[in-house]
Amino acid sequence: MDLQLRDKVAVVTGGSAGIGLAVAAGLAAEGVHVAICGRDPGRLAEAADGLRAAHGVRVLPVEADVAAADGTDRLAAAVAAEFGGADILVNNAGTGSEETILAAPDERWQAYWDLHVMAAVRLARTLAPGMQARGGGVILHNASICATQPLYYEPIYNVTKAALVMFSKCLAAELIGSNIRVNAVNPGLVMTGDWVKTAKALTAGTDQTWEQYLQKIADDNAPIGRFATPEEVADTFVFLCSPRAGYTVGSTVYVDGGWLRTTT
Ligand code: NDP
Repeated sequence: MDLQLRDKVAVVTGGSAGIGLAVAAGLAAEGVHVAICGRDPGRLAEAADGLRAAHGVRVLPVEADVAAADGTDRLAAAVAAEFGGADILVNNAGTGSEETILAAPDERWQAYWDLHVMAAVRLARTLAPGMQARGGGVILHNASICATQPLYYEPIYNVTKAALVMFSKCLAAELIGSNIRVNAVNPGLVMTGDWVKTAKALTAGTDQTWEQYLQKIADDNAPIGRFATPEEVADTFVFLCSPRAGYTVGSTVYVDGGWLRTTT
């Protein structure tokens, strides 16, 4: 299937690792030029070098914290300077939480709200006008199955990801008249660095290996019985970026190995 993405320009927040890097690589493999951002400059530069070497596209690494307005402004300005705007925005940067509602202070709620919701709001405001001028575009939000089916140890994550999905729905209605398609993806268990780090920490000094720990999580939750690779999830993002997904608007696509226990 020709995804008709060659020479488009995409911005992927958190494109230096995990799912974001896999999305950037998937797009680059289709001939898309990519801007990626993250806070760790070393990891960002390494990711950019890898993308260039593997796919021969233009890659713009931007050191930026998207949870802050000056970070999203810096990212948008760098994209404007290098590419004159973007056709695709993938709001991916995010992270899990662990707290109780009664103990978590306001600052913690605000920090996750800024990272998961305000980053997407601010980047829509700065990048969508350029998409309108280019005749259209695509905005995708990487939320989580937890937006619908909560994990109770991370209420702030669940709440802010649910808000991101609703933001995606509202933005879709506002922008489709400008030929900008907005959708969300809700992944389930995806094998990225944090899972491995946590598993290693929790199994150190026990008779359980970190692989066994993660396998039990997969067995307990996902009917498919395993984690997804970042690439398996990224392929759905890449397809949704394509004009071949042209009638998909305001949707939330689950990539969760059967974990969601309801119909939606
Ligand atoms: P990783 O920790 O592997 O990668 C996160 C990426 O985001 C890194 O590039 C990181 O770079 C960047 N990032 C994090 N915070 C910021 C910030 N404030 N500003 C800019 N960049 C930032 O995460 P995953 O790939 O696992 O997760 C990506 C997204 O997918 C998240 O939104 C997560 O909630 C969602 N998701 C993940 C699932 C999973 O099982 N892994 C399941 C469902 C959803 P740096 O640290 O250098 O800033």
